[in-house]
Amino acid sequence: MDKTGTLTTGKMTVHEVIPMPGTPDTHALLLAGALEDPSEHPIGQAIAREAAARLGPLPAVTDFAALPGAGVQGTVDGRLITVGSRHLLTQLAIAIPEHLRDAVSAAESAGRTAVLVAWDEQAQAGVVLADGLKPQAAPAVAGLRDLGFRPALLTGDNERAAMQVAGQLGIPAEDVFAGVPPEGKVAVLQQLRADGKRVAFAGDGVNDAAALAHADLGVAIGAAADAAIGAADLTLVSGDPSDLATALQLARATLRAIRANLAWASGYNVIAIPLAALGYLNPLFAGVAMSASSLIVVGNSLRLLRYQPATASRRPVMAATAQPIPIADRTVALAEDNQ
Ligand code: ADP
Ligand code: MG
Repeated sequence: MDKTGTLTTGKMTVHEVIPMPGTPDTHALLLAGALEDPSEHPIGQAIAREAAARLGPLPAVTDFAALPGAGVQGTVDGRLITVGSRHLLTQLAIAIPEHLRDAVSAAESAGRTAVLVAWDEQAQAGVVLADGLKPQAAPAVAGLRDLGFRPALLTGDNERAAMQVAGQLGIPAEDVFAGVPPEGKVAVLQQLRADGKRVAFAGDGVNDAAALAHADLGVAIGAAADAAIGAADLTLVSGDPSDLATALQLARATLRAIRANLAWASGYNVIAIPLAALGYLNPLFAGVAMSASSLIVVGNSLRLLRYQPATASRRPVMAATAQPIPIADRTVALAEDNQ
């Protein structure tokens, strides 16, 4: 499963803007918000929303380019602005002052997501974002495990934020793949498949589209990007990750019904057709038997309409749990990842 937007609400909020000493934080927020305005990513939407709410109408952006799993770039007020991960800035040879590097590390240690805003070949501010787990995320993971699946987390976000979420969901560290760019998600799935595993992948973003297409079963969740829905085999429109377990159980029940129908139909025919051919069956009885065979198959299939998944009782009552669960501010001791 992807993290942002799939297991977390994806409704990120700007927690803090950390400018370089001397730069007003509103200036960085205005430029970042203007740049992120066309972005479909929850991070971009949160920054644009915050900027518009605090600073009013945003300046226009030209030459906008989204770099999936990395950030965005474009021109605002005649300046080339980049907003994205530390990794992206490093790749673009944009300098990251010590002050911002430390601030981003501290935010990530608290399980938050942090991105950098850069212009003039240098990072000028950090934006720290907070996201909450979907209330159904933990029951969803538990439900999948009960069904005999092995839940794993595959995310483009940093390792510390990923570990925080995994810890709260009971996913062990060995099943967490963090800091994975979109092509990397495909590579991880291919590796798992090469190891003989059958892999379902659930995601919501443009950055997940390739992985959704490469998984044995690709599942787009909720208000997923069109690219994700197009690439997926299955779309869970509610955005509730526990529907994944329900869908897999329904698929198993459907397969059971198909097998039972095949056994019924062929059993009937294997016995009744030779009897009829040899004249041992009254044509009236043969006709009734043929219809009965069809009715049994259709009736057996229709039972699926009333199908109740075994883990449905796990689903929390919506009214009681509609609030996102904050990702714990627990510090995870992890080696500094030099992204
Ligand atoms: P996930 O796999 O959790 O959905 P993504 O692969 O979409 O995460 O993003 C990975 C990282 O790339 C983010 O944590 C962020 O640092 C950066 N990023 C992606 N899109 C944007 C954006 N629109 N603005 C800023 N940073 C972004
Ligand atoms: Mg996502």
